Amino acid sequence: MVATEPCPVCGSVDAHPVVSRRGFSYVRCHRCQAAYVAPAPSAEEVANIYQDPSYFAGNTEIGYGDYVAMHKVLAPHFRRRLWILGRWLPERGWLLDVGCADGFFLELARADGWEVAGVEISEPMAEETARQLGVPIVTSIEKLPEDAVYDAVTLWEVVEHFREPVAELRRLVRRLRPGGALMLSTPNVGHWQAMNAPDAWNMFCPPAHLVLFTDVSLKVALEKAGYSGIRIWKVSPLPPLPKWLEKSTAPLARRLADGSARPWMLARALWLAVRLLGWAWQRLTRPQEDIFATLEAMAWRPG
Ligand SMILES: [Zn+2]
Repeated sequence: MVATEPCPVCGSVDAHPVVSRRGFSYVRCHRCQAAYVAPAPSAEEVANIYQDPSYFAGNTEIGYGDYVAMHKVLAPHFRRRLWILGRWLPERGWLLDVGCADGFFLELARADGWEVAGVEISEPMAEETARQLGVPIVTSIEKLPEDAVYDAVTLWEVVEHFREPVAELRRLVRRLRPGGALMLSTPNVGHWQAMNAPDAWNMFCPPAHLVLFTDVSLKVALEKAGYSGIRIWKVSPLPPLPKWLEKSTAPLARRLADGSARPWMLARALWLAVRLLGWAWQRLTRPQEDIFATLEAMAWRPG
């Protein structure tokens, strides 16, 4: 136990150190299992990293090597999530994507029948996306038109970037119409690697990722923010591999994560085979471990 800042999810001060990187330290809350940067960087320090154009093009340490190359990594997830949203909200309506980057999800959502708007904290990115897509993009939740309400709000790998996730989620529930839905994805800090080999887990990525969630802590955050009907599920199985296989496939994993693998379909098929092998090995050797890299959640504004 260490004296630390209260957990930004549940408020407990009972936490232990996990890992330190680039001068920032993560601790894990004993009560809700969230991991967070403590002491937290200042709001200015956090805001500054997103104004640098290299965040989306070249800053592979805390940002993206090339966000456009990421499109084919993201497309299957975005399509699957739109399918889920469409099942729950067949009438569609207005969708707000928070952290919309270059608007790739907005484009797919629009093609699926939604009216779309976005929030993007990076000013150059927000400007460019608004111009390219001809849709309204603002640079913070506070700057949304005062009377604007949405049928759906989406946050893909965004909630972990907030210093105060509960307050931000509460701001967003007010932007939903009664009966509207929030859908999000975020890294799963309950993943075996985050639990047992935190030095190797690359989602510990300060100061971009400030609060990381398990399924339990994500539920606590959504409840505290005022959502109901919360469902959380896990996707993207990344099982532990035997050492020799992990080593020999590391370059492939890297090129698949940043979208640079060629030929793409063959690389994906190869990786699927590796993961199946890893999954079988994990069932035999460490069956109790959580192998899912990502959490997805759906939650509703009571109405
Ligand atoms: Zn906590």
